[in-house]
Amino acid sequence: MSRTVSVALLLLLLLCLAIGITARAAGQTATSAVKISDSIFMAPGGGNVYMITTPKGNVIIDTAAAAQAPNAKKILDAVSHGAVKYILLTHGHADHIGGIPLWKEPGTQIIAQRNYVEFRNYVDRLEGFFSPRNAAGFNRPPQPVGPWPGNYGANIEATVLFDEKYEFTLGGTKFELFSTPGETPDHLTVWIPAYKTAFIGDNYDGAGIPEPKSFPAIYTLRGTRPRPALDWIKSIDTVLALKPEVVLSGHGDPIFGNQEITRRLTRFRDAIQYVHDEVVKGMNSGKDVYTLMQEIKLPASFNLTESFANVSWSVRGIYDGYAGWFDTNPASLYPVPPSSVYPDLVRLAGGPDPVVQLALEKLKDGKPVEALHLTDVVLAYDQKNMAALGARLKALNYLEEKCENFIEEGWLQYGITKTKEKLGSAN
Ligand SMILES: [Zn+2]
Repeated sequence: MSRTVSVALLLLLLLCLAIGITARAAGQTATSAVKISDSIFMAPGGGNVYMITTPKGNVIIDTAAAAQAPNAKKILDAVSHGAVKYILLTHGHADHIGGIPLWKEPGTQIIAQRNYVEFRNYVDRLEGFFSPRNAAGFNRPPQPVGPWPGNYGANIEATVLFDEKYEFTLGGTKFELFSTPGETPDHLTVWIPAYKTAFIGDNYDGAGIPEPKSFPAIYTLRGTRPRPALDWIKSIDTVLALKPEVVLSGHGDPIFGNQEITRRLTRFRDAIQYVHDEVVKGMNSGKDVYTLMQEIKLPASFNLTESFANVSWSVRGIYDGYAGWFDTNPASLYPVPPSSVYPDLVRLAGGPDPVVQLALEKLKDGKPVEALHLTDVVLAYDQKNMAALGARLKALNYLEEKCENFIEEGWLQYGITKTKEKLGSAN
């Protein structure tokens, strides 16, 4: 479905998220705030911003990406000019913290869960690693990376950090903040008991894909520490135990009504639990990660898509998160990869041609990944081999045509671009 409108739109949304512009900002910038209740307003966008008004000043929950933040500020300013007493950060992703400088006033308290500090340091510590991967996953040129800030060099805007729970009252409205790790270790949920409203960041919504939602990314291809599935499950239970009537998330539309909230969040939680437990069962029975990636499928009864995150990537994320890199093969103990002997295999085959031929046959048999592996073998022998590059391009195009996941599509496009570049320079 590579060229369908829906995938193109989803790709645009993710591309926009990645470069800090929302789909709305790119095509349909919101011109007014959405009134959730008399005191809660939402600036919708690639990263939703919420304002809660009280007689003693306002509370802002999340601030969007830097490029989108001015519009969110403008449309919420039209609702209220009350002093910003608190900024609450559901987590430290760039599409939630970019607008902090716009909202911060003298005396504004900025509250985050304590893991925010390490999460932000982690992102900045490895910016040189993440930046090109972020660009590659969206098949766009890499952004320049600044000088290394050091291991603990992130700018931490939070003035208040808490471990499990924090609460305050402003203008008669009580706010309760709970640690709810999930998409990130620093995720928090804001609960306003008087309005029975929970702000849950990205723990349900992912990238704002409409219902039915996609299975979440327990691992992201751009690179991340494994997201502990059991913590995520527990955090959804924490939200459900509050019995909210309104759930507001970092992306996408509000969910109203406890029955509907319970239905959606329970389904999402149980899907994570199912995949997690299948991985654990498989690990305990001695199955390797590739076997589990092939075997574990999400039952259709969950009614979740894999448009944002493939279950098999999460299977591997959970497996590797528990076990690390060693696969029990003694050959893996040493810094000599399998590819070190690829050129020898090509020589053994009598040169590149029979191996390329085999790759093309695999492709004809509907085995594009095997075809890709075989082109890797030839390209280790001769990185400019035209026939191997051509076969590789065919295999990538084959996969891209069948792809229904737009993150996967981004990486396939990246591979196609790189292969075409090599074909061009080999000419
Ligand atoms: Zn987000």
